[in-house]
Amino acid sequence: MSKVRTRYAPSPTGRMHVGNLRTALYAYLIAKHEGGEFLLRIEDTDQERYVEGAVEIIYQTLKDTGLIHDEGPDKDGGCGPYVQSERQASGIYLEYAKKLVEKGEAYYCFCTPQRLSSLKTTVNGEEIMAYDKHCLHLSKEEVEAKLAAGIPYVIRQNNPVTGSTTFKDEIYGDITVDNSELDDMVLIKSDGYPTYNFANVVDDHLMGITHVVRGNEYLSSSPKYNRLYEAFGWEVPVYVHCPLITDEQHHKLSKRSGHSSFEDLIEQGFISEAVVNYVALLGWSPEDNREIFSLEEMIREFNYHRMSKSSAVFDMTKLRWMNGEYMKAMEFDRFYEMAEPYLKAVIKKPLDLKKIASMVKTRIEVFPDIQGHIDFFETLPEYDVAMYTHKKMKTNAQTSLKVLADLLPVLEAQEDFSNGALYTALSKYVEATGVKTGFVMWPIRTALSGKQMTPAGATEIMEVLGKEESLERIRKGIHLLQEQG
Ligand code: GLU
Repeated sequence: MSKVRTRYAPSPTGRMHVGNLRTALYAYLIAKHEGGEFLLRIEDTDQERYVEGAVEIIYQTLKDTGLIHDEGPDKDGGCGPYVQSERQASGIYLEYAKKLVEKGEAYYCFCTPQRLSSLKTTVNGEEIMAYDKHCLHLSKEEVEAKLAAGIPYVIRQNNPVTGSTTFKDEIYGDITVDNSELDDMVLIKSDGYPTYNFANVVDDHLMGITHVVRGNEYLSSSPKYNRLYEAFGWEVPVYVHCPLITDEQHHKLSKRSGHSSFEDLIEQGFISEAVVNYVALLGWSPEDNREIFSLEEMIREFNYHRMSKSSAVFDMTKLRWMNGEYMKAMEFDRFYEMAEPYLKAVIKKPLDLKKIASMVKTRIEVFPDIQGHIDFFETLPEYDVAMYTHKKMKTNAQTSLKVLADLLPVLEAQEDFSNGALYTALSKYVEATGVKTGFVMWPIRTALSGKQMTPAGATEIMEVLGKEESLERIRKGIHLLQEQG
């Protein structure tokens, strides 16, 4: 068998949708699993949908996700150009369309927009237009005369009206349609550009694509593509159509959900490996129930025969969990580099941000969670004295006041404000008074943070806050307990 070659063929229309990222990923994995090649082709023939800067986003996203292409506009592998508008300019599509015209598999159509409009009918509330092959019957001379007169034209596929066409999809199985349902679709538009429908077949063939991986919205058009392959006498590729991705309400994942693109997710504080890992599981499951995979592991494990045809639900809770797992496993330096802007957005004082980062690393799911964990370092929030009461620690306002009042002079006298030294100092008090550690730590931590939950214990917090600020907060606590306790 020839070398497996797959392609990712995005249209530059904006940010990279999660569905497109999954298509790119599966195409990449199928190629790499077989030691094959992964190509990038830019499908920019629909000038109206073209968005400035979208090509750069495609390159950037592939780079960020590690889906490195072997061939593409920036890496010539001998099948270029890899940008459809450049291919169009070189006349490839017209040349191939003309080949079909010669074979009687396609024909010139000069029908006016008005005539085409008159062919529209409404079926089940939906307006459809089935072309009636009007121009198929023009003689060669008539066609030439019209072309010479410069009358606008399109080139249409000449599909049979009887019989049926069957094609095999690896995920959806054999699909058969009556040829009467195959419209004579346009191959070359009046502006000279090919339609996606035509260009994808010509390009996939010329680029040696063995496996076509794409969203299932193309499933219903695939019989027409098959007929094109047959008309040219080309080998039909393996089709792998990916299931739909929906939001939790089972609607197609759309921009409205606010997290439909890779860039959206990165901006929301997710990390690319976690997103790629999560996206891999939207429509594929490995043999065991494992969920965390590096890209290399996915290459090894991925098997498109284990893809599902039912829709995959984008579950934010699951993605957040997965992202948290990646945060925990991440090297500290990289974590810090990514967390720093989020830390700096909250902490303006000269505190040790690295220490704060290490406190939150295992506690957050996405970077923006950082804020809720650390804001007390910057400013002590207003808090209620009731917070000093903790059943399990056996503390209340009175016991807390005593502990804080006893320890204030101890801490004032303490020179070394490192975590270890502070812990030793407090342990001495615990031992001397015969109480439980929590009985002492709870009030101190409350006075330091004004919070029930903190990302670290009392002594670690003091180490970060420093002596002056820690003592001030403890004095405030004493004051509050004296006033209201
Ligand atoms: N340009 C098409 C799109 O972005 C690609 C479809 C395909 O992969 O064949 O939807």
